[in-house]
Amino acid sequence: MIRGRFAPTPSGQLHIGNARTALLAWLQIRQAGGQFVLRMEDIDKPRSRPELARQILEDLRWLGLDWDEGPDVDGPYGPYTQSCRLELYQAALEKLKSQNRLYPCYCSRAELMSIASAPHGLDSEGPAYPGTCRRLSAEQRLTKSQIKTPSLRFSLPDRELQFHDAIAGYACYPAGAGGDFVVQRADGIFGYQLAVVVDDAAMKITDVVRGADLLDSTPRQIWLYEALGYTVPRFAHSPLLYGPEGKRLSKRHGSVTVAGMRAAGTSPERIIGCLAYWSGLMDRLEPIQAAELVAHFSIAKIAAEPLVIEASVLASLAGSSL
Ligand code: GLU
Repeated sequence: MIRGRFAPTPSGQLHIGNARTALLAWLQIRQAGGQFVLRMEDIDKPRSRPELARQILEDLRWLGLDWDEGPDVDGPYGPYTQSCRLELYQAALEKLKSQNRLYPCYCSRAELMSIASAPHGLDSEGPAYPGTCRRLSAEQRLTKSQIKTPSLRFSLPDRELQFHDAIAGYACYPAGAGGDFVVQRADGIFGYQLAVVVDDAAMKITDVVRGADLLDSTPRQIWLYEALGYTVPRFAHSPLLYGPEGKRLSKRHGSVTVAGMRAAGTSPERIIGCLAYWSGLMDRLEPIQAAELVAHFSIAKIAAEPLVIEASVLASLAGSSL
């Protein structure tokens, strides 16, 4: 059984880029007759807001998408809200600790910021961590632990990593790419990489479709799958949407949130029509329902190039002129 998911973070409103990812992930699963999971990624509790979580679900339903399992419908692999799954992340952390894959990191934010971008950095993830605290002696660790609570980092294996992405194609990352990454912050919050891997494995996700901004997270997640003994899912990273001047879509481009477009009187069919046209699923820009796209969907139709959206189309979606 093929199983996919959409995993929004409720720290902001659903915008057109998220809606596109949700649509593609949903179409893939509905076309294949699989099960679709909605998971609310509020692991960073201080930055998440319950009213945004509710609104995201409402926006998705308004767009014509549905899910078989999720925070509001439950299911066999629940709970479907990350803040209710902390014991699972803790258990995974213990497993990694028992394999000696983690070490405490005492570096301050200022120290981390001063690390020059190394050739092995993963661009979208910031400069690669140079492994400073990996090399501390037991004595140095003891001294530092008396003044600071550490974060926990995962030690990357010293091997290159390759994988195939259904949209982006073949990807190869050299040994050490991105550097050792944080799996638990000093304030106790579990890292995104850990939570997403534990959840996708526990929820038996076979296919991950998400935005290309997370492509560079994938090698890290594959290392975690391997260390935790989980099966790695198939990945497809959809290209990002850019505004007319080549910048990633943002508030500057008008109300590119689903709620904003809805408030401006734009219909869900019009939004879905634009998303489908931009994704190469339709050859004309016209309104359509999400369900009408299911039968002919194929991930192979999605082009890997980033999309530049015309100003006039954005303005009409947002119900305003720019
Ligand atoms: N929660 C992440 C986000 O909203 C997505 C995680 C994922 O799809 O792996 O960016």
